[in-house]
Amino acid sequence: MFTEEHLRGLTAYLLETAADLDKASKKEPPSTPLPIADSILIIHRRLPVRAILAPELTAYKEVVRVAINNNFNCTPEEYRQLDGFVMANPTSFFFVNCNVKTPALLTLNDHPYKAVITLNPDIVVRENEVSKFYSLKRERVAFVRVKYIPDSQPVVELIQELSEARYPVVITKQRFNSKVSLSRYANLRDYQFQGNKAHLIGKALSEVQALADTTPDVYICDRRGLGCQGCGLCSKLTLGQDLKVTSLNMSSSGECKFNCVDCYAKTLQNFLRKKKIPTCVMIYDVIHQNEKQAGRTEHIKKARAALAA
Ligand code: SF4
Repeated sequence: MFTEEHLRGLTAYLLETAADLDKASKKEPPSTPLPIADSILIIHRRLPVRAILAPELTAYKEVVRVAINNNFNCTPEEYRQLDGFVMANPTSFFFVNCNVKTPALLTLNDHPYKAVITLNPDIVVRENEVSKFYSLKRERVAFVRVKYIPDSQPVVELIQELSEARYPVVITKQRFNSKVSLSRYANLRDYQFQGNKAHLIGKALSEVQALADTTPDVYICDRRGLGCQGCGLCSKLTLGQDLKVTSLNMSSSGECKFNCVDCYAKTLQNFLRKKKIPTCVMIYDVIHQNEKQAGRTEHIKKARAALAA
């Protein structure tokens, strides 16, 4: 039974906590005590756990994908820095992006953040990595990312297994930088070079689309080629709302230590380094929309023009 005494105790605790938070954020505490409901809301909005407690209490304006050009390595420094971003941006919903090979992956269980886990970063499916993923608390997983290549039974089985286990799956169609890397994993006839990347085409493309259409809760990243604005899965599957998607690469994460096959981010970073534009290699600690999120890439412009024609 919740008595008046409990309520008084709770009010005092909330006001004290609010004052502490104000001190920590160097804001002046309110001169007159706030009504209890307002105090609860203020504290709720500032706590990193707010997304887990009750996301509907916060009027979010954007969803921030953390570690878009690097990897969230789940280190104490990264959690600390992310907590700071969460407190400073009360109307932004943050989720982290991790490779299943991240050594400290399971520490996600001890923090309030939702995560997107890439389960087969090297394209091949490894049983030990998949079992490690299953040790994560269910509520920490926003969705799983699986890299797809045609004619790979292990990849198809993994997608079906995750769907049966009721995890939302977002398929990323693997693109390749060269015929050499492509030939290691797939057949040249299923790909076509557009710009400097080989993209899945024809029957193989129809097959992956049919797989997504016939398997519950399985989606394809940027299926319509319209970029994040035309897709929105990063927002819908993490927060359940269709909001603007932005990104953040934290300096505490640094550059990604993995070497995934023809990684888009690494390819871009190497290109910028070669061109001697080091300031653009990685933009740290700024919440912003990248080209795909802002709809500025050539493939998005072409897809939009085709739709309008
Ligand atoms: S297109 Fe953008 S919003 Fe959609 S799944 Fe891919 S990264 Fe997320």
